[in-house]
Amino acid sequence: MTHILIVEDEPRLRKDLAGFLELSGFSVATAATAHALRQALAEGDPPAVIILDVGLPDGNGFELATEIRSTHACGIIMLTALGDSDDRIRGFNSGADIYLVKHSTLREIEAAVRSLLRRTGDLTDSPSSQDDRWVLDITNWQLTAPNQHSLKLTAAEFAFMNILCSHKGGVCQREELVETLTRPKASFDNRHLDAIVSRLRRKIESRTKLPAPIKVVYGVGYTFTASSVIQ
Ligand code: CA
Repeated sequence: MTHILIVEDEPRLRKDLAGFLELSGFSVATAATAHALRQALAEGDPPAVIILDVGLPDGNGFELATEIRSTHACGIIMLTALGDSDDRIRGFNSGADIYLVKHSTLREIEAAVRSLLRRTGDLTDSPSSQDDRWVLDITNWQLTAPNQHSLKLTAAEFAFMNILCSHKGGVCQREELVETLTRPKASFDNRHLDAIVSRLRRKIESRTKLPAPIKVVYGVGYTFTASSVIQ
């Protein structure tokens, strides 16, 4: 599995990015400081790509990129809040292969990782290979993860997954979900929906030992971030 090292001191971004890349089929390690980066390079698996934040509490990404370049042959993606072209030039001069601003979406960052891996010939997995797919079995109300661990779904969980998977990675609106999950003569609201989803996520994670690829899109609804098939 292709190994990615994320060096980012913002916990939320680090966690979201790590989760997203894991779901995309990469093995991921994280570091929150320059010190932890050096430690990961010395002791951990050698990364094919390092995603490097420019502003770390104990180091500067530009200098770190130069330092990494002197010892490691990995790809470097610089990640910064700054969008100005001086920084971009400085980023490239310091050895970064790709320079991204932080408002890039997780998908854009993932696309940058893949394009860099294609360039370096390190892409060992295929994003659309059948092995990456989650399978929703409509006969048995069963969800099977790419690692072949599976779980039985309740009626509500199955209805939720069925809508989510039929959106093929698109965002499924809350209203549509609430409407579909509401049984006649029963009250159902947003809180019920969130409760079903959080229970389902825990269930997926405990049975499959994988992060549940269900993401909240704030103010809109939910999306399934892995590839899936209904059969
Ligand atoms: Ca930072």
